[in-house]
Amino acid sequence: SDLYRVDGWGAPYFTVNSSGDISVRPHGTDTLPHQEIDLLKVVKKASDPINSGGLGLQLPLVVRFPDVLKNRLESLQSVFDYAVQSQGYEAHYQGVYPVKCNQDRFVVEDIVKFGSAFRFGLEAGSKPELLLAMSCLCKGSPEGLLVCNGFKDAEYISLALVARKLLLNTVIVLEQEEELDLVIDIGRKMAVRPVIGLRAKLRTKHSGHFGSTSGEKGKFGLTTTQILRVVRKLKESGMLDCLQLLHFHIGSQIPSTALLADGVGEAAQVYCELVRLGAGMKFIDIGGGLGIDYDGSKSCESDVSVGYGLQEYASTVVQAVRFVCDRKNVKHPVICSESGRAIVSHHSVLIFEAVSSTTTRSQELSAVGLQSFVEKLNDDARADYRNLSAAAIRGEYDTCMLYADQLKQRCVEQFKDGNLDIEQLAAVDAICDFVSKSIGASDPVRTYHVNLSIFTSIPDFWAIGQLFPIVPIHKLDERPGARGILSDLTCDSDGKIDRFIGGESSLPLHELGSNGGGDGGGYYLGMFLGGAYEEALGGLHNLFGGPSVLRVSQSDSPHSFAVTYAVPGPSCADVLRAMQHEPEFMFEMLKHRAEEQEEDEVLTFASLASSLNQSFHNMPYLAPHSSCCLTAAAN
Ligand code: PLP
Repeated sequence: SDLYRVDGWGAPYFTVNSSGDISVRPHGTDTLPHQEIDLLKVVKKASDPINSGGLGLQLPLVVRFPDVLKNRLESLQSVFDYAVQSQGYEAHYQGVYPVKCNQDRFVVEDIVKFGSAFRFGLEAGSKPELLLAMSCLCKGSPEGLLVCNGFKDAEYISLALVARKLLLNTVIVLEQEEELDLVIDIGRKMAVRPVIGLRAKLRTKHSGHFGSTSGEKGKFGLTTTQILRVVRKLKESGMLDCLQLLHFHIGSQIPSTALLADGVGEAAQVYCELVRLGAGMKFIDIGGGLGIDYDGSKSCESDVSVGYGLQEYASTVVQAVRFVCDRKNVKHPVICSESGRAIVSHHSVLIFEAVSSTTTRSQELSAVGLQSFVEKLNDDARADYRNLSAAAIRGEYDTCMLYADQLKQRCVEQFKDGNLDIEQLAAVDAICDFVSKSIGASDPVRTYHVNLSIFTSIPDFWAIGQLFPIVPIHKLDERPGARGILSDLTCDSDGKIDRFIGGESSLPLHELGSNGGGDGGGYYLGMFLGGAYEEALGGLHNLFGGPSVLRVSQSDSPHSFAVTYAVPGPSCADVLRAMQHEPEFMFEMLKHRAEEQEEDEVLTFASLASSLNQSFHNMPYLAPHSSCCLTAAAN
């Protein structure tokens, strides 16, 4: 497990068990040994055919663990409760979950359910997000906040005011000064008194990738001058008591508690000033930014890690707010955070299969025999080869490479002139590869082809170079015999992963057998800590849709688990529909074409139609150990 740093990034939810598989510890540090869930068994259950007791789901697969989600929420609440208690802070903490991190229905519903005991709420940044947050919060704690962020038009504001009318604890956070006029006007027309927050543009700036939204020139929030104008206008409208919340967001993945303390301290000063100016302040909403240690290094030097844990984060926030408020003699506000990444990242694991890998070419060479290759070369090339061999025998590696390059170049020229046939050109490539391998100059890194679309499932790797831990979920008791990069199914050279946590440019991987994993099963890899943003951002490049999804809970019987939800990923018809095609019409057209063809014993009209129908219904990914679906359909 050391090779993959599982103990670093995985604790306390992922570990390697005695069978060499990744185990999930659904209750974190409170997990008992018999409650651990072997991830390989989950994958087998999901992917085995229905007639063998499996669910017949196709990979890639997202496995969600609601118990992990619950543990994350409870852990976040308990670190804040501890900080509040130990520092004598005179108000409480109540978080909201920003639904943009993962809008999946079950994820949001679970968060509302698990968090209702401690007033957990939701944050929305658009009209559909607001609609889903409103309906989910109907089942949540009445005190749970519904924080309305994002750009707002009249429709958004009306909807937020409807939410207030429905007795949801709604706060309209002004991101733009112009939103205030709409809030005042529409509120009057609807006879709803709004609760208003404002997002401050802090001077504190986070320098990492995720910090571009922070600082004076950040995209969102009100400047000091705008804040003062908002206060004046609210006062003139007799609504200053409606201003109750101050929001800011330093950026995601805040690297250090020093930066956090700086930002929260600055915001607390703004909060105290708003109190002084007469606003009805109650809440300080510190936004998101609680970071994840993707590489287990606990370092504040990169975007992939952070130099603090949950408790240090909470203690820093509480202390920074308390210090400023005590000095200004201001009543301690309720502290709210919008942690997204920190709540949902751990709870889901993306599983995909490596289906083949490039083999080293010297194997091809030795199988056919070096001598027969040499015999195919012309005189000049053979002379180069002899020089090359002599240099190799003398151990002159640099000279070897020079002759190898010369040999290759000469042969390529001859091929272009039409004086060398394609077998001879292949022979030259093989010889050069053989030489570089023999003298240790060849690139030992292979390409593993994975049944996945990086654009759909790990979009942040492609878009912003974000790294996630990627690990085989089994065979971790066997030393990997190769190193590889991962290449996906899309026809796009960006569809590959060639950078990994720990600064590595390849991943230690096991040899693939004839059937993937080499023992009759596949070779399964897991991408961990991707529960936030990846599903929400993924696109349909090459029309690969999302993965199948499984929800797995810890079951009452020891060493077992319960599948509470299983759904295949979008079919070819589904993804076509997303691009305005009409699969039913397409099928009819192709069926009609099939009717016009001459039948034979194998390709009957019925078999063609059934095969076409199947193609629309299957997922776009490689089918498991795919047999020809035409034969299957014909049978
Ligand atoms: N709140 C706001 C306003 C945000 O812009 C974001 C994300 O960037 C978040 C909350 C969630 O941040 P994180 O996932 O870092 O907790």
